[in-house]
Amino acid sequence: MTTHTAFARAPYAANPDAHGGREFDNARRAGSPGKGDETRGPRSDFQRDRDRIIHSMSFRRLKSKTQVFIAPDGDHYRTRLTHSLEVAQIGRVLARGLALDEDLTEALCLAHDLGHPPFGHAGEAALSDAMARHGGFCHNAQALRTVMRLESPYPEHDGLNLTWDLLEGLAKHNGPVTAPNWALAQLDEAFPLDLGTWPSLEAQIAAVSDDIAYDNHDIDDGLRAGFLELDDLLQLDFLADQWRAVEKRFPHAPQDRLLRELIRDQIGLMVNDVLDQTRRAVKGFETVAQVRDAGRQLAGFSPGMREHERALKRFMYENLYYHREQVAAAERARDVIARLFAAYSQDASLMPDDWHQSLPPAEPDRSRAIADFIAGMSDRFAMRACAQIYGDMPQGLTNV
Ligand code: MG
Repeated sequence: MTTHTAFARAPYAANPDAHGGREFDNARRAGSPGKGDETRGPRSDFQRDRDRIIHSMSFRRLKSKTQVFIAPDGDHYRTRLTHSLEVAQIGRVLARGLALDEDLTEALCLAHDLGHPPFGHAGEAALSDAMARHGGFCHNAQALRTVMRLESPYPEHDGLNLTWDLLEGLAKHNGPVTAPNWALAQLDEAFPLDLGTWPSLEAQIAAVSDDIAYDNHDIDDGLRAGFLELDDLLQLDFLADQWRAVEKRFPHAPQDRLLRELIRDQIGLMVNDVLDQTRRAVKGFETVAQVRDAGRQLAGFSPGMREHERALKRFMYENLYYHREQVAAAERARDVIARLFAAYSQDASLMPDDWHQSLPPAEPDRSRAIADFIAGMSDRFAMRACAQIYGDMPQGLTNV
């Protein structure tokens, strides 16, 4: 029988009592009043990381950033915030099942999309073009920049001062980073994150949880929007098999409920597959160091499930992410970001006073700060900012 309590910590789990430190030492300088345990509560250092992320402004802004659909009018579509919550929920199940550190996994899941600019990948592509001559732009490096430099709630330093383990996992959750862009390289110089190795299992779990979450919720959102049809989805063998099983179990249930059951089943099958595969992969591992030195991904899908999952992704690219309406909306979104970047570059007084006054005079720092400001915007903030500058509200962005 399965039990869900009293798990022992696996020897290869990240340990909050033996983490890699924080960039700014929390030990108080002599004479500084400092802060005692009475204001910290009984939290592990990874729980403190998680709480710093949840209380950050960039986390709250995820509520109106694109997941798949730009600034959707419908309340039931995922946004980056609800996506991040779904990722965290799957990540915690996997972490607990593998006796890893659930808090670090949760914190990584909640933080993994903090660097996404408005309008999802369309916004990222536009910023990447604008920053091509100034060190580039990618959402993953921007997540690091957000938590290490841009969020600044503390009196003594910039950033959220998260643990090395959290930052390392955030930088490398999709694997080793062999060619960091200028922004990430700069952070890595200030606080080295061993970018060339695989990260902890907690970070690897966060990455596969991201896949499981969006593979499934994007089916749900795509069907809701009418961009996907059930009959087309059933061309995928794996989904067709599950659909037949669901229909057999509930021969009289309405189709919309069967679809919910199908997605629920698929999440469960994927989660169980990752648990089995990862348990096999870490057999004989005794330390976190062995995980980092393994030179390969350890947590993830079995080869069979990976194939199903890749087929599903190919289908989603063709039918949802590159649906002609989505492509048209993405074009317009890129244009909004390009116009904002051009406007602020020409006349920085269009930015809010605090950004304008602290804008570095020289490149690449100047453009980097403009990219930081734009990347932090929500979809709606960017649309309003564009309307204020150019006098017309961007049209044709919202299509659901
Ligand atoms: Mg994600």
